[in-house]
Amino acid sequence: MNKKQNAISPTREENFPEWYQQVVKAADLAENSVTRGCMVMKPWGYGIWENVQKNLDELLKETNHVNAYFPLLIPLSFLQKEADHVDGFATETAVVTHHRLEADENGKLIPAGKLEEPYVIRPTSETIIGDSFSRWVQSYRDLPLLINQWANVMRWEMRTRLFLRTSEFLWQEGHTVHATEKEAIDETFTILELYKTFVEEYLALPVISGTKTPDERFPGAVETYSIEAMMQDFKAVQAGTSHFLGQNFSKASNIKFQNEHGNEEFAWTTSWGVSTRLIGCMIMAHSDDDGLVLPPKIATQQVVIQPIYKGMEQRDKVLSFCQKLCKDIKATRFNDQKIRCIIDDRDMQGGAKTWDNIKKGYPIRIEVGMRDIDKNHLCIKQRDQSPKEKEFVDSTVFVETLPERLQSIQDNIYKKALSFQQENTKKIVSLDEFIDYFKNKNGGFAISPWCEAAIDNEVLKELKVTPRNIPFDQDTPNEKCIFTGKDASHYVIFAKAY
Ligand code: AMP
Repeated sequence: MNKKQNAISPTREENFPEWYQQVVKAADLAENSVTRGCMVMKPWGYGIWENVQKNLDELLKETNHVNAYFPLLIPLSFLQKEADHVDGFATETAVVTHHRLEADENGKLIPAGKLEEPYVIRPTSETIIGDSFSRWVQSYRDLPLLINQWANVMRWEMRTRLFLRTSEFLWQEGHTVHATEKEAIDETFTILELYKTFVEEYLALPVISGTKTPDERFPGAVETYSIEAMMQDFKAVQAGTSHFLGQNFSKASNIKFQNEHGNEEFAWTTSWGVSTRLIGCMIMAHSDDDGLVLPPKIATQQVVIQPIYKGMEQRDKVLSFCQKLCKDIKATRFNDQKIRCIIDDRDMQGGAKTWDNIKKGYPIRIEVGMRDIDKNHLCIKQRDQSPKEKEFVDSTVFVETLPERLQSIQDNIYKKALSFQQENTKKIVSLDEFIDYFKNKNGGFAISPWCEAAIDNEVLKELKVTPRNIPFDQDTPNEKCIFTGKDASHYVIFAKAY
């Protein structure tokens, strides 16, 4: 095995952004499309999204949310109904203005059939869903209304990066309607907590939940809450958001209901979403200089079996052993689901195949040759360990203990990411130290006292640092705000961010 030749180049240390691109490419997850800012998700990458969908969907259904589907195109006038909303999305909205194509005199196709009212391609669906809700909600008996949509959205992003920020992305967007302010706020927190649990337990990614500072709020929201994750280059990513929309959107979309006393009231709404960005976070947080590292719970495949043989006679014997093993593995359950296992019988030189599978991030690789069959043991390699490490395990014992093994890999990946996050989070109470922490490097998470003054200061701009969120679990600071010197009301997490 020639490691140098096959591992990812450059390394994380040498050039982190380029390393990320190379990991995505080597694992065959996705590629840039000819369509500006959009990506093609290849089967190995889409498989991860399917597992995100399946598991998150289950959690949402357990909390009484139901799925529905609304149109991709939104009448332009709808977006205008909420003033802040339109301001926030105006600069990144794609507009459909024609509904047919015609050939000009040179035979070139041109748009024709100009629409009287243009449509925007949904950047988010509050307004079009609000239109349906205004009809669905009449009485307090119709509430709460807990709807989720799995969809694609389009935001004309200027600087894109596979998974983390694309112009078209896949997500789920929840939209709920409530009779009282308290119920709506509770829903916003329930979802943020659900996101935190999902991201930590499935993507093995520790996150910090908190309230967004006012300048980072979703356009039109009263409050935005987020979960923030740390990447291996010490930068932050907003992994998910949950918005308390007050009555802003119910007033814009006319969502009213008769309360128990027969009086008409505007309802209270929320919205929340996580996207294919989660896959980008997961890659940047866990992968190493040998390629992708996948937490077993969301890995496209959890186990790969590599048969090793010479000649037809050995081939038949080894393959039939592998097929039986694969069948036994698939009949075993992990996290209440059938274990996902494949046999990799591609006609490839052994070392190249091994490295290809390491770069793809299979949590477990099993090599099966004639000697292993004779001894009825398996050569096991785990992606959370060094590629040099291997373990020989009796095949029956292996299958029986596989769920625990997958869970231990899942736990190891999480623990590693958690220690990294904790080691690189620092309470900083002086501006000089703050500048030193971020100047010429990415720093980490700085937890600093803040007085709620507008955060648009030159220091942050120059350092390219932004407030991430105001963590929920905190004491009132004794220190002064590092920017104004006034009494601080909260600690805020600051970081460079994607
Ligand atoms: P928002 O509706 O702006 O709160 O976004 C909801 C979630 O979608 C965010 O928390 C991000 O995780 C994700 N997201 C926003 N913009 C993009 C993008 N351009 N590409 C991928 N994911 C995105």
